[in-house]
Amino acid sequence: MISVQTAKELIRNNKIQTPKIEIELRAAIGFASAQDILAPIDFPSFPQSAMDGYAIRYEDLQKKLPLRIIGEVQAGNTSAQTVLQAGETMRIFTGAKMPNGADTVVMQEKVILEKDTITILDEQLAFAANVRPIASQTKKGNTVVQKGQNITPASCALLAGLGLTNLSVFVKPKIIIINTGKELIQPGLPLLDGQIYESNSYALHAALHQLDISPFEINWVDDDPIDIKNGLSHAIENADIILVTGGVSVGDYDFVHDALQALGVEKILHKIKQKPGKPLYVGKKNSSLIFGLPGNPASVLTCFYMYVVPAIRHSMGFASTELLSIQLPSLHPITKNAGLTHFLKASITTNGVLALDHQESYKMNSYANANALIELNEETTTIAINDLVKVYLLP
Ligand code: AMP
Ligand code: MG
Repeated sequence: MISVQTAKELIRNNKIQTPKIEIELRAAIGFASAQDILAPIDFPSFPQSAMDGYAIRYEDLQKKLPLRIIGEVQAGNTSAQTVLQAGETMRIFTGAKMPNGADTVVMQEKVILEKDTITILDEQLAFAANVRPIASQTKKGNTVVQKGQNITPASCALLAGLGLTNLSVFVKPKIIIINTGKELIQPGLPLLDGQIYESNSYALHAALHQLDISPFEINWVDDDPIDIKNGLSHAIENADIILVTGGVSVGDYDFVHDALQALGVEKILHKIKQKPGKPLYVGKKNSSLIFGLPGNPASVLTCFYMYVVPAIRHSMGFASTELLSIQLPSLHPITKNAGLTHFLKASITTNGVLALDHQESYKMNSYANANALIELNEETTTIAINDLVKVYLLP
């Protein structure tokens, strides 16, 4: 068995890479930029007023004389402007281009307006106050979004503000989910004695949805070596990432491992020193990555967050691939045996993090209320109140 760290490294070293495409900015959420994006223009591309007020020459302030208003400049006014001479001012609005000769803006609340003159009352006014200098956000040619950076609503606005409409990304991987298990019945149908409702595909579908990915297919196969082999073979032909749930353990009806071997899948890892999800299998064939997720529902979801999310994000060129993690004080003592890394369903509150009850891997009740997973490494046996623990934030 290998450690969690080794498993993560093996998965990273065996990453798949999806093709690069050009997409519209409006469709870019959920992707990472496939290249450094350079600003095509200065931003702002002209000195702008940051306030509604009056554009002045700062040196005029010393004279303490009223300034004569010679006109106004509205935001978006593109016509040629007169040059501000000594003793003159112009009414100006937020976002408007500074008149030539003006270097400072005084807020309208800080002047006394009399007919066509203003007297400035602002004792604190500094040179260049209330002006957004040219290129003060970005100079033309500077990198504004780095290769691998995820596209957020803010980066969409940043790029649109620079006049860009398209960008290059790596496409989302095509994913097929395969559920194995004779005992599984679809929710909504009557349950016979000995059957359980299939829930793993619901967890995976929803977790993929949070990454803005729709699975390409969700398939069910019986615990039958031929069915499993056929299902896997079809998936390997058609998907970049295959998520098989169940059948990877050591029971008499766990045929996934043998089927993958028979199909020539190269084993990357099988079994990790962790709880839940110890029997996890990962393999590769051609350009497809196959995850054999242990069937228990909590194992499926935890393995998804810890290993499948990074693999998906690697394939799409994200620079940062793991769930965000932080250190937080534990609100309760925790004990565990040494030997395995534990991932505990947990809840972050304002004071710290609380490991929840019902940690068994067949249960989803506390997981449904969790917003985090605590990671306790192999050697850890006791955590006292307020000890810092590593916590992954769930999406
Ligand atoms: P397995 O890994 O096939 O031995 O399954 C481990 C446990 O997970 C068993 O109790 C299965 O009944 C259960 N299980 C497997 N697949 C699913 C599924 N798709 N939905 C809910 N439970 C499942
Ligand atoms: Mg099974």
